[in-house]
Amino acid sequence: MSGFWLCAALVSMHTDPLDTLGGDVTGGMNVYIRELARALPRQGVHVDVFTRAADADAPPAEDIAPGARLIRIPAGPKKPLDKFSQAVFTEEFAAGIREFAEAQGGRYDLFATHYWLSALAGERLAKAWSVPMAHRFHTIAAQKNRALPTGDGREPDARVLAETGIAKKSDALFASSPAEAELLSEKLGAPDSRIHVIPCGVDPERFAPLPRDAARAALGLREDDHVLLNVGRIEPIKGLDRLVCALALMKSKRPDLRLLVIHVGGAIRGSAQASNGSGLSPEDFSSPAQREEVRRIMKLAAEAGVADNFRFMGARPQSELSSFYSAADVLAISSRYESFGLVALEAAACALPSVGFDVGGLSGSVETGGSGFLVPDGDLEGFAEAALQVLGDPDLRARLGWRARERAKTFAWSAIASKEINVWKKLLERQTGDQRKFRRPACAGASA
Ligand code: UDP
Repeated sequence: MSGFWLCAALVSMHTDPLDTLGGDVTGGMNVYIRELARALPRQGVHVDVFTRAADADAPPAEDIAPGARLIRIPAGPKKPLDKFSQAVFTEEFAAGIREFAEAQGGRYDLFATHYWLSALAGERLAKAWSVPMAHRFHTIAAQKNRALPTGDGREPDARVLAETGIAKKSDALFASSPAEAELLSEKLGAPDSRIHVIPCGVDPERFAPLPRDAARAALGLREDDHVLLNVGRIEPIKGLDRLVCALALMKSKRPDLRLLVIHVGGAIRGSAQASNGSGLSPEDFSSPAQREEVRRIMKLAAEAGVADNFRFMGARPQSELSSFYSAADVLAISSRYESFGLVALEAAACALPSVGFDVGGLSGSVETGGSGFLVPDGDLEGFAEAALQVLGDPDLRARLGWRARERAKTFAWSAIASKEINVWKKLLERQTGDQRKFRRPACAGASA
């Protein structure tokens, strides 16, 4: 295991960290696992990331970076399955990881699991091999249910129950914000001593400000367009209905402004493409759930008289997002719940201020008064006022943008990886001599 002092298994059962971002289930968690897997080997940790094989054409293993591999474990049918249909395959998935490790003649020093399904698989192996398991929930069902407007899309009790068990059993829990840490302790009963607040990261080189005029021209925007950008998956929890309402309020207050909301995200059908002048229609999106949500938002926008001010662009690769962040005037985060809100940090790295509701862990990625403004949850009037203030004051926008970029630089992925490693080290130190003595890491034969 040349140059590596630790061999970690990162488990991401229900979503492939190398999948295209912005689809139904691909977002911040995929980015977190992918970036962590890239950063860890530079600090001496060999990483195998395990995901469920959901595509018969995808290779069984792939390099993410030197010292980090992605392994696709067959468990259930090789096709996309929703998270609840996957729950019955956690045992098969765990058995597949074990078989893979044994074929390499070893095991792992530690399991780092992401999302509740992965923990259900990881805890079996961690127990069998007497190694620690550190878990990050990314989203918490009880909190999501509280935030959702109606009964639609509620997370079932089985997940709520499973998460309570995971919170109590994991050797360490990573929360992305103090708000999440409080939730883990108070609502899920996790022991405080096991909770560690470690935020998400951002790559300040991939996300950096581009010249505004060129970015606007490339997207076909006029100099006098006042652009509110929203980036993310398309689902009710992202609160696009609230953004439509806030936009209508803004328009009634300032009918003289050319207001435009640009939404980036949502997997689209192969042939569909948004042109610069007009957005996509519901039929352009590839999943029924996205089509339904886009239809609902468009209907709402038409009723509120802002249909022409709202444009869906579909998912774009991260390499294109700096253009959007640099062309916009404000990132408008309408979410009802965000465990962290990676897009706010990416926008910040591009010197774009954010306006959002103070929900979940968003206060970790948006520093109110520093890199943007957070208003109380559901305060549409406050949201509209804050957004108009940023749109209408170029000096304020520049000041917030500068501060946002400076702050974002402190969230480099290498620093996030070091923080996780420090917690892992403490877990490993607690192990008894025998537990450490008989181990041959599964990555011993892996090429780095
Ligand atoms: N993203 C992307 N292309 C898109 C939409 C989103 O690459 O069209 C990425 C975005 O850069 C960010 C992630 O998806 O890194 C979304 O993370 P966030 O934490 O904001 O939301 P989540 O999806 O986890 O709810």
